[in-house]
Amino acid sequence: MCLFCEIAKKNIPSTCVYEDETVFVFNDIAPKADVHMLVIPKEHIGSMAEVTAENSAVVAHCFEVIAKLMKEKGIADDGFRVISNCGEKAGQTVFHLHFHVLAGNGMTEAHV
Ligand code: 5GP
Ligand code: ZN
Repeated sequence: MCLFCEIAKKNIPSTCVYEDETVFVFNDIAPKADVHMLVIPKEHIGSMAEVTAENSAVVAHCFEVIAKLMKEKGIADDGFRVISNCGEKAGQTVFHLHFHVLAGNGMTEAHV
């Protein structure tokens, strides 16, 4: 069982911010900044280390969605940070690719 696959399928509840056929965006359960969203592909990709020519369009779409949401929410001009922890040593705890999007107070933390 993969926690984020279950969240994307809505089998486990989350605060959904945005969804389309490829991407699911929800608020982190333990926010480290005023804004702390997680952007995940609906397709299971374990981490950034598993990005390939076959699935990289999904990753590109994640970044398109991040830019769109940050503009829509009026955050883009103030600044935001995107982080992906890849592997245990980098602090990855959920092994389904995700991008932390941080903004506001707290976003200066280098590690999430
Ligand atoms: P990682 O440490 O893998 O980079 O990030 C995993 C993130 O997922 C953490 O920031 C953690 O707070 C968040 N998280 C873990 N379990 C849940 C959950 O059940 N729901 C939500 N919304 N976030 C979760
Ligand atoms: Zn998964």
